[in-house]
Parts: sequence; structure tokens; C-alpha cells
Amino acid sequence: MNDSVPVEALALHQGLLTIDTHIDIPWPTGPDPFVDGTRRVDLPKMQRGGVAAGCFAAYVPQAARTPESEAAAFERAIGMLQAIRHMGRSENGIAARVASTVAEIEAAKRDAVLAIVPAVENGFAMGNDLSRLAEFRRLGACYMTLTHNGHNAIGDSCNPRADLGDAATEHGGLSPLGRAAVAELNRVGMLIDVAHVSRDTMLQAAALSRTPVLSTHSCVRGLCNNARNMDDAQLDVLRDTGGVIQITAVAAFLKQDAKPDAVTVRDFVDHIDYAVKRIGVEHVGISSDFDGGGWFTGWRDASESANLTVELLSRGYDRQEIAALWGGNFLRLLRIAEETAG
Ligand SMILES: [Zn+2]
Repeated sequence: MNDSVPVEALALHQGLLTIDTHIDIPWPTGPDPFVDGTRRVDLPKMQRGGVAAGCFAAYVPQAARTPESEAAAFERAIGMLQAIRHMGRSENGIAARVASTVAEIEAAKRDAVLAIVPAVENGFAMGNDLSRLAEFRRLGACYMTLTHNGHNAIGDSCNPRADLGDAATEHGGLSPLGRAAVAELNRVGMLIDVAHVSRDTMLQAAALSRTPVLSTHSCVRGLCNNARNMDDAQLDVLRDTGGVIQITAVAAFLKQDAKPDAVTVRDFVDHIDYAVKRIGVEHVGISSDFDGGGWFTGWRDASESANLTVELLSRGYDRQEIAALWGGNFLRLLRIAEETAG
């Protein structure tokens, strides 16, 4: 924990059910998550930083869409979900537990156990087979990011991959399979993550989904013109459909063409302020994208997470608002997904 954090702010921070909604894991192998090591997130850093829960992504890079690569992508996603689940144990004096429902995440916080929340990043992981979504949920996945960089069979990405032969748009948003995937994600009780998708894909998913959609890691275009960020009209759609944008710690999304060293906690909270002023505090949240490109000065790793709470307090947010930003809004959506499932 950062020594400069005032004692009252630290107490408030540690009392919150804080959730970082997007963290990457090493694959195929990496450092022991129970040892404070070279990763921006490991369990000792989460504990020191007062991060109660982390959504860990089984991330599948986009590749050419062949039956072989789709099978490999599915295998990788399953393997990564199993590795994420394996973090749910006690070791080195640290207790962690897989938590895939609101009740489980809340219980972990009550028990002072770190909550490991599995997720899938890139719908390429399901290929053309909708039945795979239920398998992801069975392994605890709470959300699936519909695309990554590059279009897939589900829909268009905001970052087409020329090296994979992508045109600017392929489906004009969601494909028919993508529309079926949204319905199936609703049915199995997983949230629909619109980070990485094109504007049209996002708008169509928001209109179609029976549960509000969220971006688990994006920032706002009004402050930084990056394809990964949401413009004002998209933010308004999130407000009107009950969705959430989880502002993320990627320097180039926060400040035009910036390197992480040139970005501060104030820049990050500027994006939170912007979204809150436009669509309300109940539609905004926090994510790091640690170990997937996210970090900046003042939030270099999970151990520094209380610095965000200090900045939010200094800008006049009260405890209830900070709790909503730090995970309450995400849990509201997850609860709706659970209630809507089946
Ligand atoms: Zn991502």
C-alpha cells in the first residue's frame, strides 16, 4: 500500500467491495500468483491494494477463422478458465476463492477472502458453436467480450485487422450468429462486454440484450480520441439501457498518444468525472487492464489501488458513490444477468 494514503481514506477503501473488472493472466505459464512478483496483479498485491475481487480474463487472440484455429481458441479458453479457477485456493497465507455470482463475490468479501471472477475475452473462443457459451459459464465466466482486435464470426471490432484480411466493417455490427450469441449469453446468465467492439456492434448489442451491456475496459472519446473509447451518444445509450462503462488504466485511451509515465491518477479520474457528469455515477466503474497494457503513474499495479479512492474523495465523491464506482454498479448488472438467465 502507498504510504501517502491518508488513514481515513485507507479505512474507507479497505471497507469497500472493490472489483477490478479486467485483468489479464500469463499464458501458457507465468509467475506464481501467490507470490509478489513481476506481474502488475498477483494476490499479494491485490491484498495490499485493498482489491477485493478481480475479473481475470481467459483471453484468446484473434486468428484466421478456420475450424482448426477455432478449435484451438476454444481449447485455450477452457485451459485459461481452469488456470483462473486454480487461483481460488489458500497458499502463502493468502486465501482466494472462485466467485461467479453476486452472492459468492459478496460472501468472499465478508470472509476476507480474495474473489477470483473468471471471464472470457474474445467471442472467437466460441467459434461458431453457441453451446460453448454454457461451458464458459459452467467454468464460472461472468462475462464474455464479444470481440478483440479483429472482426470475428460474432461481429465487428473497433480495430479491424488488415493482416487477417479485415475490411473496415464485415457484418455491419453483429452477425446473425452474434445476435444468437447475445441471446445465449442472456440465457446462461453471462454479461455482454462491448469493450473492443465497433460502434455499431455496441449499439446493436445494447438494443438487443435483455440485460444491460457494459464495457469492462474502455474510456471516453470526449477526452481522448481512440477507437477503443466511447463517444457521447454511446454513453447516452448506456445510461438509457442501464449499462456501465468501466474506465480503464490504458494510457493511450486516457490521454492522446500518451505513454504510461505521462499519465496520472488525475487523468484517469477525469474520465470518470466526464462519464459521471454525462450519464450518472450509477453507469460508471473502474478497471485496470493490468498485465494487458494498463498502468500509469500512481496506479502501476494492484497494490496502488487506494490512490484512486483518494482522488475520488478529493473530488467530492462520497462513500456510496465510490462504492458504486468500485464495483457496486458491476454487481448490479451481474445480478440482473442472474435474474434474467434461464
Ligand atoms: Zn482487452
